[in-house]
Amino acid sequence: MKITAAVTPGKSQPFKIQELELDEPRENEVLVRIVGTGVCHTDLVVRDQYYPVPLPAVLGHEGSGIVERVGAAVTKVQAGDHVVLSYNSCAKCQNCKEGHYGYCNELFGYNFGASRPDGSPTLSHNGEVVHGSFFGQSSFATYALAYERNVVKVPRNAPLELLGPLGCGLQTGAGAVINALRPQAGTSIAVFGTGSVGLAAVMAARVVGCTTIIGVDINPQRLEIARELGATHTILASDHDPVAEIRQITGDGAQYSLECTSLPKVFRQAVDCLRLTGVCGLIGAAPLGTEATFDMNTILFGRSIRGIIEGDSVPDLFIPRLVELYMQGRFPIDKLVKFYTLDQINQAAEDSERGDVLKPVIRMG
Ligand SMILES: [Zn+2]
Ligand SMILES: [Zn+2]
Repeated sequence: MKITAAVTPGKSQPFKIQELELDEPRENEVLVRIVGTGVCHTDLVVRDQYYPVPLPAVLGHEGSGIVERVGAAVTKVQAGDHVVLSYNSCAKCQNCKEGHYGYCNELFGYNFGASRPDGSPTLSHNGEVVHGSFFGQSSFATYALAYERNVVKVPRNAPLELLGPLGCGLQTGAGAVINALRPQAGTSIAVFGTGSVGLAAVMAARVVGCTTIIGVDINPQRLEIARELGATHTILASDHDPVAEIRQITGDGAQYSLECTSLPKVFRQAVDCLRLTGVCGLIGAAPLGTEATFDMNTILFGRSIRGIIEGDSVPDLFIPRLVELYMQGRFPIDKLVKFYTLDQINQAAEDSERGDVLKPVIRMG
């Protein structure tokens, strides 16, 4: 079928709106009419080729929409269902079998392979292959082919156009707190980097009952929003030493911290600010080969560091919970979102990179 998509033609080139041909859904595939799709940091670093995804390609991996048609073997959803598209995984490796989908041995191929897992293409332009199936979706488009495995059914009374970012960025931040770190009520957490992922973590920390929630950033506007969403303290890292400030606020250091900036210097601060036995969650994705240094004795005294992918989320379970928290007013993602049309996608990317907008969402016409 004919679709309209924002194509990434080459390294660091602007998105280009084109009419493409999309394959029909195969046995385990789901054709989704996209209603909204978030622009995530990962889309932009792939556009800039920090990760070797073949181009030209249609990116986009925070889609939400309505099921149009399903393949013969699909039983999870049917035409008309409202769905959020999340990351894909193989279902066969040891980690998938144990429910740790974010640590699937085939995660790279299933999300960054830019074709179906069997290597066949899903998209073309005048007979030439355009790479698709990015995160099992390629949702910067009016329609996307997803898999039964990465579509998540959501209630029809929720605002569908808003929900796409739950499939990646927002479940990453919220899940890091709720699924991975699991802080007890009454404990302290410091969140380094209060972009959309960090702010999702701040909201989640309030949901689980952390009583000291410290937002750290170099952007004062973001810190203001962090306060609005639940931060009890904020630190402007350009003017203050976050480690000293966090010790001042907490007495003996934070019980939990989250690194969301992917900067080695900040990662070290997120570890150094912990109390003995504290846990630092690392969710910022740095370019391959990035190294960080620590005093080994910092870790020796019971502190630990935990890498977290996609918030340790089992999307079928976790995304509906986040939708319910949103509906109850306890996870107000609408405060992060600004809507754009598909032909404004370059503007959306630019606004996001400049830090003017927390979470751009492309709303399809
Ligand atoms: Zn797997
Ligand atoms: Zn993402």
